[in-house]
Formats: sequence, C-alpha cells, structure tokens
Amino acid sequence: MSVVSHLINGELVESKRTLEVTNPSTGQVIRQVADADAADVERAISAAQAAFPAWRDTPPAKRAQVMYSFKQLLEEHADRLVQLVSEEHGKTIEDAMGELKRGIENVEYACGVPELLKGEYSHNVGPGIDAWSNFQPLGVVAGITPFNFPAMVPLWMYPMAIACGNTFILKPSEKDPSAAMAVAELLQEAGLPKGVMNVIHGGRESVETLLDAKAVKAISFVGSTPVAEAIYSRGSAAGKRVQALGGAKNHAVVLPDADLENAANTLMGAAYGSCGERCMAISVAVCVGDETADRLVETMLPKIAGLKVGPGTDKGLDMGPLVTAEHRDKVLGYIEDGVKAGATLVADGRSLKVAGHEEGYFVGGCLFDNVTAEMRIYQEEIFGPVLCVVRVGSLDDAMQLINDHEYGNGTCLFTRDGEAARRFTDGIEVGMVGVNVPLPVPVAYHSFGGWKRSLFGDLHAYGPDSVRFYTRRKAVSQRWPSASEATRAEFSFPTNQR
Ligand code: NAD
Repeated sequence: MSVVSHLINGELVESKRTLEVTNPSTGQVIRQVADADAADVERAISAAQAAFPAWRDTPPAKRAQVMYSFKQLLEEHADRLVQLVSEEHGKTIEDAMGELKRGIENVEYACGVPELLKGEYSHNVGPGIDAWSNFQPLGVVAGITPFNFPAMVPLWMYPMAIACGNTFILKPSEKDPSAAMAVAELLQEAGLPKGVMNVIHGGRESVETLLDAKAVKAISFVGSTPVAEAIYSRGSAAGKRVQALGGAKNHAVVLPDADLENAANTLMGAAYGSCGERCMAISVAVCVGDETADRLVETMLPKIAGLKVGPGTDKGLDMGPLVTAEHRDKVLGYIEDGVKAGATLVADGRSLKVAGHEEGYFVGGCLFDNVTAEMRIYQEEIFGPVLCVVRVGSLDDAMQLINDHEYGNGTCLFTRDGEAARRFTDGIEVGMVGVNVPLPVPVAYHSFGGWKRSLFGDLHAYGPDSVRFYTRRKAVSQRWPSASEATRAEFSFPTNQR
C-alpha cells in the first residue's frame, strides 16, 4: 500500500509511524500517510530556517515568476488533483474542480507580489528627511489545514507567505492528505529552492511541536473552533503571530418578498453541496413569517428528494459521502437529537443507500422545520447535509437571532428590498455577508474571515490581509544633511510644529 510521505528540504521523507487514509465512498483504506513525530517536525523547521536568508533576499519579481509557473502546473494537473480530492474527501469531481480553481485564484493574486510589497513613501517629512515603510518577511511560518478543502485552504496560505519571502511548513489534514501533497510537489517543480516549502503530515503531536518551536514565527490555522481557540492561545503565548479560523453556523434569512424559487435553488447548493461540509455552508434558513416558511419548505422538499448522491468520483452527482464513519455517526446523532428535541424532520436522509457502496458514509439530505434557538441542532455546527428552518416574525427578530449566535462566519439575506438589504448588511454581526448570494466567499483579492468565535486573531485569510499577516512593517526615516549644514544638539522631541 502506498504511503504519502513528508516533503522536507525538497525530498520525500518517510516517517516511523503512519496513519490510514480511507475512501469514504467505499469505507476501504486506500493508502497510508506519514505521521510526524517531533524529530520529523524539527527537521522540517531546520530546512525552512536554512532556506530563509537566500529566499528573503530573492527579488519579489523572481519569487512571482515561480508563482506563474506554479499556476500553469496546477492547471495542467487539475484533473489528477481533483481526482485525489474527490477520492479521499468524497466531494463530487465538479465541486473539487471548483475548490481547486478558487485555490488557483490565490496563486494568481500572489503573482502580483511586487506591487503588493511596494510599501509607502513620504518625501521631506522634515527638513531634508524622507520616510518610508516597507514590508519584510517574518521567517519560518506554518499552516495547519482542515479536511474539507484539501486543495484550496492550503493555497489560501503558502502562495502569499512564500511570495512575501517567508519559508513555509504545511501540516494538512491527515484525513485527506494526498491533494495537498501533490499540489506542494508542483510548487517544488515550479522552481522553488529546496526547503522554502515543506510538508509534514500527522496529527496533534506535529501541530504542538510547530506551536512550541521558537523558530516558527507565525501560524495560520483553519479548522474547528475548539482547536482554533487552543491553537490561538498556545501560539500567542509562545510569542507567535496567529490567525485561527474556526467553525460556523451560517444563517440565510428569507424575507416574504424574496424570489422563492431562486432562494430555494441556491439554498440547495449552499446547504447540501459538499454534503454540508463547508465552513460557509448554510445550515439555518430563517424565514420571516409562517407563509414564507411554508412556501420555502414546500419548494425545497421535491428538490431534496431529487438529490443525486453517490461516490464523488462519479460524474454528474450533487453530493458524495461524509468524510469518515465517525463523522457520519456524529451527524446521525445530531439528527436524532433534533427529533427528540421536537423539531419536525420533514426530509429524512438517514436511510439512504447507494447501490454498490453499502459501506460508504452516505447520508441523504435532511430538512428540519420548526427549529428553535434552544435546540442543539440550532446551536452547534453539524457539518452535514442538514438544513434547519427557524420561523421568526420580522427582519429585526432574524437579525437578533443571528447576532446572538456564538459564530459569525457567513450569512445571507434573500430579498428584493434594497432598504432591508442595507439594514442587514450594516447591522449584522457576521464577517462575510451575501445579498441573494448564499455562499459569499470573497474572491482572492479580498480577504476571508468570520467574526466572533469563527476567527481568533486580527487579520483575515488571503487577499490584502495576508500580505500584512505574512510581513512585518519597517518604518525608515532617513536624512542626508548637506556638507554645509551646521548640526547642533537638540534636546526637545523633534516636530514640524512651530
Ligand atoms: P479539525 O479542527 O479537526 O482539524 C483541523 C486541523 O487541525 C487538522 O490538520 C488536524 O490534524 C489538526 N488538529 C485536530 N485536532 C487537533 C488538536 N487537538 N491539536 C492540534 N491540532 C489538531 O477540523 P476538521 O474536522 O479537519 O475541519 C472541519 C472544521 O473546520 C469545521 O469546524 C469547519 O467549519 C472548519 N473550517 C473553517 C473554515 C474557516 O475558514 N473558518 C474553513 C474550513 C473549515
């Protein structure tokens, strides 16, 4: 059985320990992945440290040229990469292609790094004094990524980190490590010097070694909220810069004037696409008025019954399986809990069977009506194909509900009313907001991040914030007095005010 190795200093490196990687459509173990111990991680850190000085001093335009080649290679190898995503994660091939393309957009943005690092300049800030700020790389930085976007989320991080002159260590999810590894190997092939990009695989031990290592200057984390919070605390306590993106419960508000057919269609993709395993998935539809709720449920039920579910690697499907047996059982537990709490399960996907894939981790689309804010299925992130309908009396009630929730990643309003849309986008306490756009994932030249317990740290992921996250500002003031200028000691604080 093949083993996914570490990538350290440009070489594939095996580990003493391994973990199993499963195909969630069949339940079969398909390969092993290296499981780093502290010594493996320290080797990667040493390689990244050694590569840093020369890479830092490489002109940004040359670093950008590696990113151009990388983008080309990603496009050439796209079919192989999405096959790996789909085989290990379970999402459909078309969905995997979508994530890869959104990942490539981050590489395109990183190609513009000479422009992004131009800095700021002021001439003559004082007599004969010029001042500028430039942005210098931090050193060795690390990224820890979740299972649900195995190609895209790593690409949120290292193209920009590396383009800014840092060296990088990626720790992808151990559940579906192959795509992240294949993508990193393409970056190596694009002409990156050895040691600039390193990948180590494994679980908690590898992450904790990165968090405690003095040489690692910054950590980008994406994953569940309890882990994000722990990583933020431990990394910050060790003096690192940390951005830790966590979980979500994303609400879509449906107003009575909304185009219901459009809302139902786009909600289908936002709730059930990738089997609900997206941090931006809509998991709550907040309907204003009973009539709106009745119409939405009625419109969605036949669409849910028509969902095409099967192994993600087959073409033309809507949904694949959940990622592991453990996660499927957790999702089933939430559905059971919702029924016991008194919510109405109007679409029940629990008995779904996919012929020829009886051991796969499939759950069909589920829809709960009459969900209330006290229920666990409302409060917690389920991360499965489960949409909850909550009925409220007004837009204000809907906004209060959302603002009271502990998460604040994404949200959306369905309406034709511009005034309501403006009130919503102004007042809602959520980081990414859509109006008639249920998955408002910002494009690569904006930045991505939630509010409240969906993000620990200050700067968001990718886009302009990532340039700031992966660099330190240096402010320089410079004076070249002319030979004839007399100087004398000045003891008062220098100022331009008279
Ligand atoms: P996870 O938190 O279990 O794992 C994320 C990463 O952390 C993995 O690499 C894993 O190996 C590592 N890890 C897990 N437990 C750890 C521990 N105790 N100590 C140190 N490292 C640990 O998340 P997941 O199940 O892989 O991904 C799903 C979660 O990620 C969901 O909650 C989803 O909302 C969230 N997510 C958030 C965003 C976002 O941008 N906010 C994006 C994608 C996914």
